[in-house]
Amino acid sequence: MAEKIKLAQGAGGELMDKLIKDKILKYFVKKDNSEVSLSMLDDAAVIEDIVFSTDSHTVQPIIFPGGDIGSLAVSGTVNDIAVMGAKSLALSTGFIIEEGFPIETFEKIVMNMGKCSEDAGVPIITGDTKVVEKGAIQEFMINTSGIGTRSKFLDINIKEVKRYRSFNQRWLLDSNLEKGDKIILSGNIGEHGIALLSFREGYGFETKVKSDVAPINILLEKALAQGGIVSAKDPTRGGLANTANEFSDKSHIGIILDEERIPIPDGVRSACDMLGIDPLEIGNEGKVIFGVVKEKAEDVLNVLKKYPLGKNATIIGEGTDKIRGVVLQTTVGGRRILHKPLGDPVPRIC
Ligand code: MG
Repeated sequence: MAEKIKLAQGAGGELMDKLIKDKILKYFVKKDNSEVSLSMLDDAAVIEDIVFSTDSHTVQPIIFPGGDIGSLAVSGTVNDIAVMGAKSLALSTGFIIEEGFPIETFEKIVMNMGKCSEDAGVPIITGDTKVVEKGAIQEFMINTSGIGTRSKFLDINIKEVKRYRSFNQRWLLDSNLEKGDKIILSGNIGEHGIALLSFREGYGFETKVKSDVAPINILLEKALAQGGIVSAKDPTRGGLANTANEFSDKSHIGIILDEERIPIPDGVRSACDMLGIDPLEIGNEGKVIFGVVKEKAEDVLNVLKKYPLGKNATIIGEGTDKIRGVVLQTTVGGRRILHKPLGDPVPRIC
């Protein structure tokens, strides 16, 4: 029987990785002059010092506690460019709307996109609108792409890294981590996925948990100005577990995380307990995970804590050559391997 695409193959874990590697990269990855290429599967690509990223948004429901598909589409792309160490210049947006979609809802979402782009300081300067027959897609989908250039704070940051260790990269790649580097998480995890899941399924804890969706580019800039950051990534689909494994795989080092230090709000924890899912695997939309040289970890942490988006920031672990992969030091004193999830436990979250 002919093989068909499954939902889990778009859920940001091991299964999606395999689809990309087996069915996409071999046709696209030719000889090109990009500095950060498609095959590196980082948050964005870099070509001639232009940072370039794209993201399609299919979230269900399109309006959820804490945000909507519009604020998500802007934040998602701005954040993927920011975590490379770049300053976003502009965004494009493409709308695909199902016939019959209420104009009032459409306008509200577009208005929120405009507000979010203004908050982030990144204008939307080109776009496309398509309407398709009823049933051709579900309601409304948005694609956003963005371009950015080298942030002046990135060079300040790298200069600071080089005071403490050798570093010959020009961008904040997933592959830059070394043993001894500290892992910093910018705040609470699990809110986006749980807010969507509970609202969608009507579990009743929706009043407590709101999505964390937000552009984090300005917070990133403040951290870069302090300096010492080697890697940064937004823990979206597949959550912290996926991000930590990306760092570990691509950097060829072990990562040890301290469970007790990972900030998980009560509402997220109780929802996860009830549903039997791991908060570390749930997608976030307004968080960053940094790799920072150990001598600068406290300084970066103190900068993050000054801003609302970073007030719960904490050092959650470090790179090590004593283990392979990602290991979680548990609150009960044991250790468990934190695997790369097969896919996000909550589907259609972005
Ligand atoms: Mg990303």
